[in-house]
Formats: sequence, C-alpha cells, structure tokens
Amino acid sequence: VFLTSVALAISAYKLGKQKVLVQELYCIETLARTDTLCLDKTGTLTTGRFEVTMVESTGIPASDLLSVLLSVERKSTHPVAQAVVRYAEKQDSVPMEITDMRELAGHGVEAIVNGRQVLVGNIRLLAERDIPVPKELSDSVSTVVVSTIDGKYAGHLLLSDTLKKDAVDAIRRLKDLDVKDIRLLSGDKQEIVNQFAERLGVDKAYGNLLPEDKAAYIERLTAETDKLVAFVGDGMNDAPVLALSDVGIAMGGLGSDAAIESADVVIQTDQPSKVAEAISIGRATRNIVRQNIVGSIGVKVIVLVAGAFGFATLWEAVFADVGVSLLAVLNSIRILKR
Ligand code: ADP
Ligand code: MG
Repeated sequence: VFLTSVALAISAYKLGKQKVLVQELYCIETLARTDTLCLDKTGTLTTGRFEVTMVESTGIPASDLLSVLLSVERKSTHPVAQAVVRYAEKQDSVPMEITDMRELAGHGVEAIVNGRQVLVGNIRLLAERDIPVPKELSDSVSTVVVSTIDGKYAGHLLLSDTLKKDAVDAIRRLKDLDVKDIRLLSGDKQEIVNQFAERLGVDKAYGNLLPEDKAAYIERLTAETDKLVAFVGDGMNDAPVLALSDVGIAMGGLGSDAAIESADVVIQTDQPSKVAEAISIGRATRNIVRQNIVGSIGVKVIVLVAGAFGFATLWEAVFADVGVSLLAVLNSIRILKR
C-alpha cells in the first residue's frame, strides 16, 4: 500500500506540472482505465470565443435590437452571450436597466427590459414557447441567437465559433492511445455538431442535448457495466454531468466553482490534448505500480524460501525489504522522466 501511494503521489506531482490536477489519488487509476470518452463541444473543443457574423432585426431598428440584447446578455456568462456583448459594444450600443433576469440552461435568457418581456436564446427556446422563427435559420450551420420582445419575433444574430488548434491533435492522440469510443455531446444544433465532428475525425456526434439530457446520457452509458466513461466539459452548465461520469474532467478558463467541485480531474489550461496526456501518465503509473507490486512480492517470496532453507538471516530479510522499497521508489520516479 505504501509503495502504491508513493507511485501515485509522484504521478500526481507529474500531472500537476502538466497543469492537470487530480482531486483524489485513485482518480489516476480510473484515468488509466478510461475507454469511453465523451466531450462537450462549446468551450471544450472550440474556443468558445464566438464572433457575430450577421444581425437581422425584424420590426425594429437593428440598433434597438442590439441595445436590448446587450442589456440582457451582459448579465450572462455564457460564451454566446459574451460574443453578443462584445459585438454590441463595438457598435456603440447602450445597455438599458433590466429586472427579473432568468438564465434558462441550454436555452438562453429571459428578462424584463424597460417593462417589456424579452427572450434571447436559441431556436429551441422559441419553439418551446410556440413562437415561429424564419425557416432558413433551422438549417443554418452557424450558431443562431433569436430574440423576441413582448412575445413578438424581433430578429436574429448569426455567430461562428472556431475549433481550438489543439483539438484535432487531442483527438488524434486519444486514438493513438487506443481510446476507441469518442463521442461529442452538445447543446448546439445537430448540423453544427456534425460539422465539427467531421473536422475532428469523430464519428459519434450528438446535438440538441439539454444539460439534463447530457446527464441522462452519461448515466445510461456508465450503467453499461463494462464501460469506464470519462466526460470532459468546460463547466458551463455541466457540473451534474461531471459528477455522474466515472471520471469528470473540467477544463480551465471558463470553468465554474460548481464544476470544479464536481470534477475528479481539473485541467488548468484550455488544451483538450491534456486529456490524452493525463490518460497516458495514468497508464504509465499503473504499469509502474504493477512492477513494484510484482517485484516486492517476488523478493519476499525468495527471502522467505531462502529463510526456510536456512540461507537468509533476519537481518538479510530486513535488508531485502528496505532494498525493495528503495528500488520501488526509484522505479516510481521514472514517471517524472517521461
Ligand atoms: P454546449 O453543449 O454547446 O456547451 P450549452 O448547453 O451551454 O451548450 O448551451 C446550449 C445552447 O443554448 C447554446 O448553443 C446557445 O445557443 C444557447 N444559449 C445558452 N445560453 C445562452 C445565452 N445566454 N444567450 C444566447 N444563447 C444561449
Ligand atoms: Mg458547454
């Protein structure tokens, strides 16, 4: 047990230097056994730094629409909201006072702006309130933000997100590590998720998932007993999913406190390739732990047998034990040399 702890502690130190923090030492062992990896898209594989590419208002001037959107979205921390704020501020929009702001996870925001009820969010949000949206928006491969004022359609924005440079590398390294089952889970539209999945070389992509759908999905997957499921998320709405997976991995930057608390592993950079790095270090650790166990049991058996035949004194036995511990510690230090 002591020798295993030494190896795990050294491994945790090594992971820490790589900006990967494990909440408990046993998480290193679970990382090593991961065979199914589910990844969130926005903020995890994409930069989450959306750019507004088009604005179209309906029934009101575009500047008024932007001012309403700015008022609402500056109260939200969602990457989509932040992009809307950046854009509106660049257009010199002026925010108004708002009351009763409510964030609707996986949907958008609802608020009262100057006494008028405003909805800002995705197509699903309006669909659930039976408010029709222009048909062409549903087929768009851009992220769409739609808005209503007092229940009337007021216009939309198109936004684009970009794949992190590191994301393609991350997936390739995971495949090299023989993590065969890689899936994308996202609250975004299926068309967009498919497009990103294709560019990443991932063949399982699931879109239109609300945070609770993701949780149910992971719960089902982990219930298939032979699978060890890791979930990687940026912590925006996905704290429950991180908690339900066998290994919850939170990516730094955008991560919320709730997400970090629910996670088993926290990556302090925004590089998804650190997931592959962590799994790889986890596996190396597991191999070294096995070598240490086999080695120390081996030597004890030899000393025992030798003792039984009168070839080993008590002092030689003690010396063998200490020597083996020393060798095991030195062997564990090899983790740092990777
Ligand atoms: P993902 O799984 O892609 O990380 P989320 O569950 O965080 O997605 O959000 C799903 C979708 O809900 C977003 O793609 C966006 O369209 C919409 N959304 C959420 N919050 C907001 C907001 N504050 N403003 C506009 N749209 C939002
Ligand atoms: Mg997200």
